[in-house]
Amino acid sequence: MERAECAPAALPDPRDALLHHQCPVLPVPRFGPFAPLAQPGQRMLLASNGLFIEVRTTALYALQRAGQVAPGLALPYGRLQPQLELAYGRLPRTLIEAFMDAARLVAPHELAGALVYDPLAGLLELVLHTSVLAHAQRVEYRLPPLAPQQVVALDLHSHGHGPAFFSEGDNLDDRGMCLAMVVGDLQHARPSVAFRLCLNGLLLPQPHPWQHAPDTGGIDEWRDTGSSPTPAKE
Ligand SMILES: [Zn+2]
Repeated sequence: MERAECAPAALPDPRDALLHHQCPVLPVPRFGPFAPLAQPGQRMLLASNGLFIEVRTTALYALQRAGQVAPGLALPYGRLQPQLELAYGRLPRTLIEAFMDAARLVAPHELAGALVYDPLAGLLELVLHTSVLAHAQRVEYRLPPLAPQQVVALDLHSHGHGPAFFSEGDNLDDRGMCLAMVVGDLQHARPSVAFRLCLNGLLLPQPHPWQHAPDTGGIDEWRDTGSSPTPAKE
């Protein structure tokens, strides 16, 4: 294969230089080792089997496919496999059930909350957001002040007595880098649950948490904050 000629601009616009530094695009080595992102940040990786987004925060490391390569297109790059690692090991079922208990108390109104991770203390904590407006189809809430090192590990909200699913409003609100869960059908002993990974607008459904860890007391099988002025779930 001949080397493609593509002369770069002599002096890139400093705004582009900053953006490319914050979110570089890299080819995945075919023969040498792949070195995962070591520090918090985001990269886009072009592999022979697709375009991948790589994200590291203090709460998670995620390597997920963000785009397909056209069938038949041969690229001289290595392959990647999706990964998801949680810095805290697993999501404690007890904390999620505590959120469900709180959500049952206000049902059929919705409730929003989060599991907040403190990497310095190595602890996850359940936080219930203050509802600014809440009814059966929507909850607007105020995020609590977090310490500088704290991050939202799991975004939580309830659908009261309705089924669990991610609505268009939820899609607009889930702009961060975290896991997200909605619980519904809270009038039943076993609520419905929808669960996904949110990576800067890439929304990836994940398996139902209790499919894999019914008796372990934790959820460990799956492998930044909202941008709207008033965070809201529907
Ligand atoms: Zn919702």
